[in-house]
Amino acid sequence: MSLRQDIESRIAILDVVNRYTQTKRAGANYKALCPFHQEKTPSFVISPAKNIAKCFGCGKGGGPINFLMEIEQIEYREAVKILAKEAGIELKGFSNKAIPPEKDPYLAHKIATDWYHSHLFSDEGKKALEYLTNRGMTLETIKAFKLGYSSAPRDLLYALKAQGFDISFLKECGIFVNSNRDKFFGRVIFPIANMMGNTVAFTGRILSSGEPKYLNSPASSIFDKSQILYGLHLAKQSIMKCGEVYIVEGQMDTISLHQAGLTNVVGISGTALTPHHIRILKRFSKVVYLMLDSDNAGVQATFASIENLLNQDIEIRIIHIPNGKDPDDYVQSGGNVESLKETALNVVDFYLKMGEKKYDTSTIIGKKQLIETCLRLIKQLKSEVEVDIYMQHIASSLGISIDVLYSTYRRLRLPAHSQKMEDETSSFTPSILDLLAVYLWKYNFFDLFFEKFAYTIEDLSSIEGAGLLVRVLSEKLLDDDTETLNTIILYLEEANPSSSQDIQKKNMMDILNRIHGLLLAKEYKNRSANTPIDVFIKKAKKLGISQSVLKS
Ligand SMILES: [Zn+2]
Repeated sequence: MSLRQDIESRIAILDVVNRYTQTKRAGANYKALCPFHQEKTPSFVISPAKNIAKCFGCGKGGGPINFLMEIEQIEYREAVKILAKEAGIELKGFSNKAIPPEKDPYLAHKIATDWYHSHLFSDEGKKALEYLTNRGMTLETIKAFKLGYSSAPRDLLYALKAQGFDISFLKECGIFVNSNRDKFFGRVIFPIANMMGNTVAFTGRILSSGEPKYLNSPASSIFDKSQILYGLHLAKQSIMKCGEVYIVEGQMDTISLHQAGLTNVVGISGTALTPHHIRILKRFSKVVYLMLDSDNAGVQATFASIENLLNQDIEIRIIHIPNGKDPDDYVQSGGNVESLKETALNVVDFYLKMGEKKYDTSTIIGKKQLIETCLRLIKQLKSEVEVDIYMQHIASSLGISIDVLYSTYRRLRLPAHSQKMEDETSSFTPSILDLLAVYLWKYNFFDLFFEKFAYTIEDLSSIEGAGLLVRVLSEKLLDDDTETLNTIILYLEEANPSSSQDIQKKNMMDILNRIHGLLLAKEYKNRSANTPIDVFIKKAKKLGISQSVLKS
């Protein structure tokens, strides 16, 4: 058994997939909305028996290792490492082939996280710890978010160097700056983790006064701000449970709300919710509560987030924190988080509310401007039902007739907009050659094949894409092949759940015919000048295939 087989035999694909999308049983298999592409009807199929998960919409997925590689955007070795650990398999002789530890950015970040965290509890970290507890954080919270303190400019560097890391690599990671100094020296550290809980970046907050107040890791091979939701690794389970998520701006907001008992909260750092974020959140939740700061920047980010969230089959709710506070202030001043939910506005109400501040709606011009702003939003909606609900709502809120509103709506032209996040249309369709490989492998039709096949295996291997088929025929499967074969079987089972052996046999003969057609066409194309075309016509007849294959 290969290492890969060993690992995959101990890891249930369903367990792995369940971390990323909600699965539902469908007969012997499970189905889910694809975690790789936007879709409304589930085309992601998980087969516990075959231990594979595949999207027949976009074609992504596979066994546990391939699935993890694609969803986490990690390399084979990394995926093997993660799953081997989960399976309790010790990787002997594997690590030297893997990314060497001293080149592993995750490891560097892990060591740094632990180092910062432990120094928060040292004598040098006293002031930092005090700062955090003064802000109302409990030790439990500090530990859960692995907060830390950078107490010395170079000690961490020495610690990492002792483990074999070199300085240029660490600079690439963004932990150290040019003078070999810890970039975050003297700051309280907020590790930023990916969905798996591995630190990929840091934010450092200054303790005393000084600029900048917050310092972030630069983008790196493992950190892209537009894809990270702060606290998601801790919030994931709770989001999945209730199907709702709260989006806040800062790390402090995230932490404070978690501590206050609202655990389905994630933070976006200083941007609006990006299409990437939404793609991730859609796997877990149906309702998004935007709870950004109520200052101007926060309101702008809310508008931008709404634009990205439209037409995503997500219920959008906006929570406006009273008195210009941010969520952290609100909690610190004794505000009740649970009650905030009841104040949530729908999108149009939010536009109306903001518009009333911006435009003087006691004047006709002001009212017109507000209506136009709202209509611009509604114009982007694809669902007629949604459009109508909001139109009715605006009409009654602003006291204008629905007919007038609709005629204004129809006249309104939006600037050409690039379509965001459309459903991908590429679909998974196995090639005819791979299909034959499956029929042979699954139904053991070898006898029938060799009886009917009019060419040689060499002829077959000259066709592009015949690799799998040839390996099945010669019984020399590669490690990946079983997964490919099982994936195609799953695809066939999904497309046609019940088909008898007779139908399978007939299907196989149809496939064989088409392959004969391919081979004959190839032979015809490569014919020598003096071979009369009759030879090929006769051959086509004998094989029972149409002469039309000779036309191309
Ligand atoms: Zn997909």
